[in-house]
Amino acid sequence: MKDQRGSNNDLIKLIKPRGSLEPTSALRPIALQTMRGVAVVVGVHALSLCIRFAIADSLTPERARLAATEGSEALRFTPVNLTDGSRLTLISPRHWSDLADEVTQELTKTHRELTGMFGSIPPFRSSIRLMDEQSFYELTGAPGWTNAMFFRGEIIIPLAKHQPIDLDNIHRSVKHEYTHAVLSALSRGRIPGWIDEGLAQWIEGDENPALRTTLKNYLQKNEPVPLHLLQGGFTKLESRMVPAAYAQSLLAMQAVVQTYGLTKITAYLQLLREDFDRGLAFETAFDMNQDEFERHLRSTLKTWAKTTAAKNSALDVSTLVR
Ligand SMILES: [Zn+2]
Repeated sequence: MKDQRGSNNDLIKLIKPRGSLEPTSALRPIALQTMRGVAVVVGVHALSLCIRFAIADSLTPERARLAATEGSEALRFTPVNLTDGSRLTLISPRHWSDLADEVTQELTKTHRELTGMFGSIPPFRSSIRLMDEQSFYELTGAPGWTNAMFFRGEIIIPLAKHQPIDLDNIHRSVKHEYTHAVLSALSRGRIPGWIDEGLAQWIEGDENPALRTTLKNYLQKNEPVPLHLLQGGFTKLESRMVPAAYAQSLLAMQAVVQTYGLTKITAYLQLLREDFDRGLAFETAFDMNQDEFERHLRSTLKTWAKTTAAKNSALDVSTLVR
């Protein structure tokens, strides 16, 4: 119980949007619905966290059941055709039609931005589903800290049914999850979890101002989260490690972007797509052994966490890469 409380506190620290002590109105209902131990959901929204690839296989019949209960007449299917031949289908309840239009625009814009960053994106098909949050948690069995998810090629975004829509948060979630879809296409599904999450957070928008302090606090008593634990997604982590895992992923990728640039990252993704061994792809693209990178990252983070100016969370991310 102690660990669980600690985890919630860490997450709640992370969630304060721009220093506010209160969750936004759009987030509060989620916290209320899940207040028996998982008010952390609030924070997840603010950070646009997601989960990937770790939902049990039993999802499939549940998904089918949901499709049947929702009833096709209540849903709107909107095809979204993108440059380079990718095709998305946006699935939303009809009462969210206006929102579906917003999301369509955001997807198109994000696709254009990602093409500008990574070049031509291999064509892929995906769907993005807007779903009321109750159905989302019933359907997925996702951990309470989950916001949206990209799972088996499908993006699912839960929304509060009877509350005002927080468009900024939705845009951020769409951008984050769609980045996962594109990174999956660019790497043929072989991108390591920490790089995937780091890039998705970097691309979604400004860093949460509490993120570094939360990581620093975590590192006072814990070792950095080993990157290999993040390979298959974050849902199998102990909950107390989740905020640190996201923070480490973001900081590491900020450092990689700053040091090597998107051209080398794009080359790395292409090597993964061509089935190179992951370690060899990393070394070829960045001219650095991945184990060495991690050793240096860990020792720099630990040194940073020990600095006596406890309230000074400044970290020059360029020092994370030797
Ligand atoms: Zn994510």
